[in-house]
Amino acid sequence: MSLSRNQQSNRERKSMNKIAFIGLGNMGAPMAKNLLKVGLTVEVFDLNRDTVTELASLGAIAADSIQSAVAKANVVITMLPASHHVKSVYLDDNGVLNHVSKGTLLIDSSTIDPETARSVAAQAQVKGLNFVDAPVSGGVSGAAAGTLTFIVGGTVENYSDAKEVLSHMGKNIFHAGEAGSGQMAKICNNMMLGILMSGTCEALNLGIENGLDPKVLSQIMLQSSGRNWALELYNPCPDVMENVPSSNGYQGGFMSQLMAKDLGLAMEASVQSQTSTPMGSLARNLFNLHNGQGNGERDFSSLFEFYRKK
Ligand code: NAD
Repeated sequence: MSLSRNQQSNRERKSMNKIAFIGLGNMGAPMAKNLLKVGLTVEVFDLNRDTVTELASLGAIAADSIQSAVAKANVVITMLPASHHVKSVYLDDNGVLNHVSKGTLLIDSSTIDPETARSVAAQAQVKGLNFVDAPVSGGVSGAAAGTLTFIVGGTVENYSDAKEVLSHMGKNIFHAGEAGSGQMAKICNNMMLGILMSGTCEALNLGIENGLDPKVLSQIMLQSSGRNWALELYNPCPDVMENVPSSNGYQGGFMSQLMAKDLGLAMEASVQSQTSTPMGSLARNLFNLHNGQGNGERDFSSLFEFYRKK
């Protein structure tokens, strides 16, 4: 699908140089830093004032409310934990939709349920605002390096506009389809990741318990048919790989409770569409059990410890 000449000229008139960034956690902070690096004006807001202060020290404008963060923005980016945070930040009386100018591009990069994304998109459209869901893959390291994959749901025109801004924070920017489609594709991806991570933990632990060196086993599987993203870039066994959470006490990275949330979103989608997802369901139970033992805020690769004999 390409843009008509009219759509093109409308697009050319749009300014996208004043960004409001809301949600400066593990992912949002490095993403906002990349926008600052290319010289954009970035006004930031988070409930956690420390992260706002850190961004301000790097050149961002610190806002003390959502209203003031978005007042002058022509693009709003949100990177929040879950669906209810997104609903509240966009739809509350003091939320984004009631305080931005008409024509503003709204980009939500949080991972949430597709229905909430579709609902916010529809309510934004009524107010003359342009919303896309644009969840990401690539983790904290991808956010820091500016190499995230963005999976966008929305109209072709809004996708094209969003791509311009997202290209400062990511390398691959896909259009998955209409509003909500970015979230649906992201949920499928993360269900696969949860399954692959639990399988990788299980296989490595089986090898260790049977006398294998996890470094050697990892090298063998990387050149064999068990190769996968978790094994290649995010080995869950401590000290097999440098610069991954498992070699840093499972700190930083992608919290186990967020993985459980994403697997829950996959289960909701499977119920709605009456689709069988037995592996996703098992992975969800494994992460829930693990989180119930006090691991929710540790990186999701800490599931490896679930398998270790105590
Ligand atoms: P995080 O918990 O580190 O950050 C979320 C931030 O949002 C926090 O700083 C929090 O204070 C802020 N926040 C919450 N409610 C707010 C509100 N009402 N107003 C302003 N700020 C508010 O989470 P994260 O790891 O940065 O993940 C963010 C999203 O990205 C999640 O949906 C997650 O599933 C997704 N994601 C994370 C990773 C990862 O590796 N961490 C990878 C891909 C996708």
